[in-house]
Order: sequence, then structure tokens, then C-alpha cells
Amino acid sequence: MPPLIGITCGRDSRADGVTRHCQNDAYVNTVVQAGGAPVLIPLVDAWPAVSALFQRLDGLLLSGGGDVEPALYGQQPHPQLGPVDPLRDSVEIALARSARIGSLPILAICRGIQVLNVALGGTLYQDIASEVAGALAHPYQPGNSRDHLAHTVQVSPNTRLAAILPGEAPLSVNSMHHQAVRDVAGSCVVSAVAPDGIIEAIEVPDHPFCIGAQWHPEEMVGRYPAMRGLFAALVGAADMLRPRGTDLG
Ligand code: MN
Repeated sequence: MPPLIGITCGRDSRADGVTRHCQNDAYVNTVVQAGGAPVLIPLVDAWPAVSALFQRLDGLLLSGGGDVEPALYGQQPHPQLGPVDPLRDSVEIALARSARIGSLPILAICRGIQVLNVALGGTLYQDIASEVAGALAHPYQPGNSRDHLAHTVQVSPNTRLAAILPGEAPLSVNSMHHQAVRDVAGSCVVSAVAPDGIIEAIEVPDHPFCIGAQWHPEEMVGRYPAMRGLFAALVGAADMLRPRGTDLG
């Protein structure tokens, strides 16, 4: 059976006041193509319900989305801070901490790497352009495709990321973020950095599989199939580590 990969969701509000859960097809489809069974995790203010779902998962994908509430890492809001969703923050931080403690495989993408870092005690830049002198253009540029190669990253040798995306040369990635990891959580190591010094990937060495990437591999897999390796590694770890006691197959 395909391992169950929980994918966190966002919410949007329509003009008529209706709030809906939302998630991009790219995450769901890429998990399916990697051999996983995606489960969209709802944002509810009821940890027993989320926890019941969490305990049935074999892996966790922390997805992209809006900004993280800066009070969660001890900062006042910056003028360029975008909209925040306190419920999404609390659900995702609880999931990230539970997955870290429970050794559940984690792939954290874009907002996900930021949530992961904050959940484990790190901090963020609230707005790269106004807080980092000389930074590259990391936000989405209107007119570009979602797999547009915006900048390179240098992958750190001897990391899990280097094993998944091997090669000496810098890796070209897309970039659709205005926030980034600032102080790396103590349990994490940096596994990729952009030429301007912005941290683009982190991982937790003493966890079976915990990788965060600041770019969007799920949007790149069509033209850059090597990016499927991140999802194959997540699903493979989820399959390998899941409890076998009730597996009748
Ligand atoms: Mn970037």
C-alpha cells in the first residue's frame, strides 16, 4: 500500500465571506507520482482531531503559503510582513514538533522550511529585500513561469540533500518567497545556500528524514525531473519507517 503523506493546507477567504481550505495540485500530484497517498490535513483548532490524523500518517509535507507570525520567534511585525494565519501556524508548528519527536519523515517546502525552523527554535527574515543588503530577487516575478530558474544554490557536501541531488555544480532553482531562515534552529544544519547567503535548505541530522527546501521542487518536476528525487526520498523513507505490525500484505 502507498504510504500516507499528510500535506498541510492553506485557507483563503472569498469576497462573499466564505473561507475555504486550498492547496495547489502540484503537491498532491507529485506525491502521487512518487508512490505516496496524499492526505490533506485540515486547519482545525482541535489538536485531538489533528493528532488522530497525524498518528495515522507515514510522512509529512509542510507546504508553501503565507508568512509566519513573528511573535512565534520573538520579533515585532516588520512593515513588509504579509498576512498571517495564526491557526495555520499553530497546527503546522504542532505537526512539525510531533513529527520531529516521533521520527516521522518530513519534507518542508518554502513556508514549510520556515515553519520547521521556527518550530525547532530558529528565527526568520520577515522580508529579505528590506532586511538583507544586496540580496537577490527571491520573490516571484510577474510574468515568470512557476518553474522559472531564478538563482542557484550551493548544496553542502555530506548532507542528505547532496545525496538526493548529487553534483558539484551549483543547483538552479525557482524562487517564490520574501521570507527566509535567519538563525538556524540548533538541531538543524544548513544544506544549501544561495549566492547572496540566503539559506535555501536545512535538515535535521539526528532525524531519520527531515529536509526543508526554500524553493518549490513540486513546480519543477516537469522540466527538471531530478527534483522528483526529493519526493521519492520522502515517500521511500515513509514506506521504510512505517509500522509493519498490522501490515497483512
Ligand atoms: Mn530563493
